Order: sequence, then structure tokens, then C-alpha cells
Amino acid sequence: MRKAAAQLKKYRAKRDFTKTKEPSGAREVLPAEHRRFVIQKHAASHLHWDLRLELNGVFKSWAVTKGPSVDPADKRLAVEVEDHPLDYGDFEGTIPKSEYGGGTVMLWDRGFWAPADGTDPEKALRKGELKFNLAGEKLQGGWVIVRMRKDRDGGKRNNWLLIKHRDGYEKEAGASLDDDVSVASGRNMEAIAGGEGQGPSPFMLSARKAAVPDAVWHSNRDQKAMPLKATPASRNSPKAATRAEAA
Ligand code: MN
Repeated sequence: MRKAAAQLKKYRAKRDFTKTKEPSGAREVLPAEHRRFVIQKHAASHLHWDLRLELNGVFKSWAVTKGPSVDPADKRLAVEVEDHPLDYGDFEGTIPKSEYGGGTVMLWDRGFWAPADGTDPEKALRKGELKFNLAGEKLQGGWVIVRMRKDRDGGKRNNWLLIKHRDGYEKEAGASLDDDVSVASGRNMEAIAGGEGQGPSPFMLSARKAAVPDAVWHSNRDQKAMPLKATPASRNSPKAATRAEAA
């Protein structure tokens, strides 16, 4: 945890927690059997989708300017941003306009992720290419995130490309991800901004079972092919699993 605290220095320095309701990272999240991911739709000065992958006690984070695309031909710019605390994965609400990242945040997708077969994710990120599988409510299957070379003038930011693999979970040109409500509260951006309806159901701060049956997920580690391919996504979404347990 000490390592995570050091990694969150940048995150904390950018924010005034007396003014924003964003978590400071002080809360301990519950352990999970698999690494978690969230994607937050963020209507800041420029609308973007924040991809966050749990790794070693923090969320590695990228701002995907146009949002993820399920079309493998449609590579999406993903700008590396500071590591975020794991309790950020339950944040949905509005950051005051005057504050860093001011605007409304929606929990657009969430679930579990795993590096592709045999990959050490830290090493892969250092090298600038991470292949991974997602088992979320909106996004599934294989993806890759690849770091781009910096321009001659250097540039402050690390830019990456987020690309969908062709594995049966892709959709061709023009496919839209227009199921534009929160996976955690069912609310649209307007309702979140207005503080209407129920708040988000917890994910990081609640005991939640894996989105996919263990047998399926574990086989993922040993096989080159994506085992998630054969399973209809909706039946294995965390939401569906939770409902089934509750029923
Ligand atoms: Mn953001």
C-alpha cells in the first residue's frame, strides 16, 4: 500500500478534496479475485472516456478522447494520465467547474480485465504495448494499448492508441456504443449532473463476484484464444451475475 500511496502523489496534488467529492484514495477497497477495470465518461472541458486498469494497488489511467471503439479499424487516441486510487472506481458525480477536471463523471463500464496469455502487465506497459482481455458490461474480448512515439519536440504527454482485436467481440464500421447510461446507476449524464435518482451501486467497495464463471476465466490464462468469445456477453455481465445472486 505504501507503494500505491507514492503512486498517488500526482493525483492528490492536482485536487482539493475540500472542494471535490472525488475520493482521496484513503479508503481501502475490497480485494478481488481478478483485476478490475472501469471506464468513466467524463464531460470535462473536452468530453472523453477514462480507461482505468487496476494494477498493483492503483488504476493505470488513460483519457480516451473519442471513447473506445469496438471496430478494430478505428484506433482511438488514449492520453496517459496520472494513476488514480482504486476507490475512484466507484466515483460517479459532478466535479465543480472551478476544479481540476470539472464536469460530470458517469460510470460508463466496469468489470474485470486480464493481461493476454503470459504477459507481465507492468513490463508490457513499460515496453509500450499491452494486450489484454476485458469482461465488462459494455466491452468484452481482446484489446491492445500501444504507446506512440513522441514527436520531435518531445511533448509532455504519453499518447497511446487503444485498439480492439478481431476476436468475435468486434463490430465493424459505424457501430455505436449508444447504450449511454451508467452501469452503476442506470442514469444518463443529465440525471447525474442534476443529482437525480439513485447513486451508483458499489463495485470496488463491495464484495462482488467475478463477472465470468471461474472455469471460463481461469482457462483464459492458459490459452492463446480468448475463451470469452463463445459466451454471450450479456449473460456474463457483472450486473447479470449480481442480479442472479440476489434473486
Ligand atoms: Mn477525465
